[in-house]
Amino acid sequence: MDELAVLKQYFGYDAFRPGQREAVRALLSGRDVLCVMPTGAGKSLCYQVPALLLPGVTLVVSPLISLMKDQVAALNQAGVRAAYLNSSLTPRQFQLALENAAQGMYRLIYVAPERLETVDFQYLCQQVPVPLLAVDEAHCVSQWGQDFRPSYLRIRDFVEKLPRRPVLGAFTATATPEVRADIEALLGLDVPLCVATGFDRPNLRFAVEHVSARDKFPALLRILKEQEGRSGIVYCLARRTVEEVCEALRAYGASATRYHAGLPDAERRQNQDDFLYDRARVMVATNAFGMGIYKSNVAFVVHYNMPKNLESYYQEAGRAGRDGSPALCTLLYSGQDIKRNAFLIDREGDNPLLSEEQARAVREGMHEGLRRMARYCTTGDCLRACILRYFGEQAMNACGNCSNCDEESTEDLDVGDEARALLACVRELGERFGRTLVLAVLRGRDSKRVREMNLAQARAFGVLRGCTQEHLMLLCDFLLERGILLSSGGTYPVLRLGPGAEEILRGGALYMRVRREAAEGRPRRTRDARRAPAAEAPVDEALLERLKELRNRLAATAGVPAYVVFSDATLRDMCAKRPRTQEEFLAVSGVGAYKLRRYGAAFLRLLSEGGD
Ligand code: ADP
Ligand code: ZN
Repeated sequence: MDELAVLKQYFGYDAFRPGQREAVRALLSGRDVLCVMPTGAGKSLCYQVPALLLPGVTLVVSPLISLMKDQVAALNQAGVRAAYLNSSLTPRQFQLALENAAQGMYRLIYVAPERLETVDFQYLCQQVPVPLLAVDEAHCVSQWGQDFRPSYLRIRDFVEKLPRRPVLGAFTATATPEVRADIEALLGLDVPLCVATGFDRPNLRFAVEHVSARDKFPALLRILKEQEGRSGIVYCLARRTVEEVCEALRAYGASATRYHAGLPDAERRQNQDDFLYDRARVMVATNAFGMGIYKSNVAFVVHYNMPKNLESYYQEAGRAGRDGSPALCTLLYSGQDIKRNAFLIDREGDNPLLSEEQARAVREGMHEGLRRMARYCTTGDCLRACILRYFGEQAMNACGNCSNCDEESTEDLDVGDEARALLACVRELGERFGRTLVLAVLRGRDSKRVREMNLAQARAFGVLRGCTQEHLMLLCDFLLERGILLSSGGTYPVLRLGPGAEEILRGGALYMRVRREAAEGRPRRTRDARRAPAAEAPVDEALLERLKELRNRLAATAGVPAYVVFSDATLRDMCAKRPRTQEEFLAVSGVGAYKLRRYGAAFLRLLSEGGD
């Protein structure tokens, strides 16, 4: 069998997604891989497919024990023998799993990083060949990231003790250049092939709504109502907010549960399962919830508060629409969220492993991250473009599937004159000052610094007196984003003219897209996010419902979450294709040979009854 046959046979897919084939081929040829792909892009298959083609047992290091269960259940459902080894097993179960493993029963074993150091486990790995070691959430090895796990640092030792070095695959959804370098060095990757696919997730619709703290809950209720019957996550910044929102939703009769690090383990596990198994429709949670959540039918993610940076935002929002169905990611923004986050950053304890200097740099980086996040919330630019640029990708100007791309919510303003005034001011002041001072001069403010530096004499003084501070901040962001202005970075960033400045200074119009409320200079609620997400291909809803019921029944019998049996996307494809024979059933996306054998008959029977 080759990799494509495995993909079809076990996972039911006809083609690899971008990046998957490259990663699979490299691992099969013995080359290490560092794979950076957004959540939902399909990282798991990159090591699961090779695991099925290589002799011996593939080890998967994964940070969250409670969630390995899910991955393993999904593999078992696909007819792949896999197991997990973690502290949730009784000693007896653990022993049994080890014995099975020693006999070569499993193709994949998921382990917590702490497990690697135990004698039992090391003994096992001396006995059975380990051709491949996959490290999931590999950014946990880096102290620069927010999910640092010291036990990840010992993966390298473990690998060195093995009789034969396995090929290594490292997988993550978030990796800045520093984190990437750390992953490579600290895991000991050997000239890895770096696979980084585009970060775009076209099925996600992004929306930002400006609402006062008081209006947030009604806005949330409205979204839940539009999303009737679908699963979703509501992220809040504080535990207290989680409790309040969850409570209030229940009072409105919504099927909601909650998750945060302050809850007892048992309750957390229970609530998480309720959500995974669709017993609770809405999960209200802090960012403690989600890493390793593979639930594929999350239709919406609402951020009740703005998170601290775009990386967190994109990772959390990206938990929607994993199966490729259209999904909605709405951020409810109020200005207070900025202060609250800034406070949290300053309060955060220092990492004892960093020097004072490094710690300061980390904190500075976090504030810069927060500024970028705030910019996302206030920009009139395409939201998707804003995210993609953040991840260093070229982006189109308008995606047509975000709230800023809705014509009625934004307006194109000609800001040519203001831009020229601003650039001229930066030049006149000798490219020596930061944004605050430049704007103070332009707006003719009599601030302490302006007086100290004697800037009231400048030609630029007061020439943009008529503009609001917010407007000029947006203009600055806009010019920075396009390289017309440059910022030196660091603690006191200085503005300079960028390569695009000359052309603007020569004259002409320059259009900046702004949120309509910003254009009018007063806050106003937008209508945009009220719309339903991009339309799914129409299907026979009644039939889809019956298929879902059948799936849920089968899942309950098997004791696994519904989406592990078949994803919503697979059921939709089934509705569209209406297979009548086993062969046709196999052509449905997400149906592999094993699932055909296991579930084919039941679904085919239902589909034939559904007769048209
Ligand atoms: P990640 O780990 O990158 O967040 P997953 O591995 O959980 O993403 O995959 C997300 C979803 O995409 C899963 O439901 C998976 O079955 C599906 N998927 C992965 N690869 C493919 C493919 N080649 N074709 C169709 N669906 C795929
Ligand atoms: Zn857009």
